[in-house]
Amino acid sequence: MISLICPIYNEEESIESFLIHIKKLIDCHNLQLELLFIDDGSSDHSLKVLINAKKENDNIRIIRFSRNFGKEAALTAGLNFAKGAAVIPIDVDLQDPPQVIVQLIEKWNAGYQIVLAKRSDRKKDSFLKRITANFFYSIHNKLADHKIPANVGDFRLMDRRVVEEINKLPERQRFMKGLFSWVGFNSTTITYSRAERNNGTSKFSFWKLWNFAIEGITSFSTIPLKIWSYIGAIVAVISFIYGIFIIFLTLFSGVEVPGYSSLMVVILFLGGIQLIGIGVLGEYIGRIYLETKARPLFIIDKEY
Ligand code: UDP
Ligand code: MG
Repeated sequence: MISLICPIYNEEESIESFLIHIKKLIDCHNLQLELLFIDDGSSDHSLKVLINAKKENDNIRIIRFSRNFGKEAALTAGLNFAKGAAVIPIDVDLQDPPQVIVQLIEKWNAGYQIVLAKRSDRKKDSFLKRITANFFYSIHNKLADHKIPANVGDFRLMDRRVVEEINKLPERQRFMKGLFSWVGFNSTTITYSRAERNNGTSKFSFWKLWNFAIEGITSFSTIPLKIWSYIGAIVAVISFIYGIFIIFLTLFSGVEVPGYSSLMVVILFLGGIQLIGIGVLGEYIGRIYLETKARPLFIIDKEY
């Protein structure tokens, strides 16, 4: 049996057509699938739709969170509760095409423990999203110790061995894409063309994605922290040289009083640099604070 993990946040319009596609797939390829829906505190009728669907399909399981904890928490819960010999996180908005599951399973049967589904292009994304996504992957992979494959989302197949290892990770700041690749194991990639959302709107605003990107970088790299020693050293060396220059200038050509603009520029520039440094520190300290509180990642209201 293979588990599909489907995080749900206000997807009442998408669930039914998703189930129709999955049913077709099961009939066509004689698959044994478990459908594990994580209702991430939806405020629409998603839960009702799921409960109704469960009446007709006994391969459906539903976990209802007590509130919205975010997709990463929903995926974590899914990995904890999935029973399948392999696990596939998949969105219900049909952006991850269900027919790709067959290819994922084929590669898994060929012996790969992880099968990544990489989108062939980003033509369907807006210009801004394309640029920022590329920028994120290049920055992240320059800074992080463990690279994440570009343009691969959460949609992938993971063998039970891999899932067990991910479940052992204790951290609360969960950038799943990073964790998925951090655990290693032998993997292969297939490509697919990502469809447009069939219903509803994306749950990720630009601001949410920005924070997600920072989460990804701070979870897997300490370079932004360490870089400040070097920036400080460089600025100190430059200041020292400039200081000597000024001393000699004063000695040989007397006190030069006008200097308002140069002073202003230096003070503001260094003030800005220092604030950025403190801000980066703050990002990490905030995360240490959250980790030490060790609150649960999610709270389950009910299991169906
Ligand atoms: N999702 C979730 N919790 C959230 C936000 C999103 O469980 O807080 C789910 C959502 O229901 C969907 C999946 O995560 O099944 C991907 O979300 P979406 O399609 O909005 O993201 P996009 O495809 O635009 O990146
Ligand atoms: Mg989507």
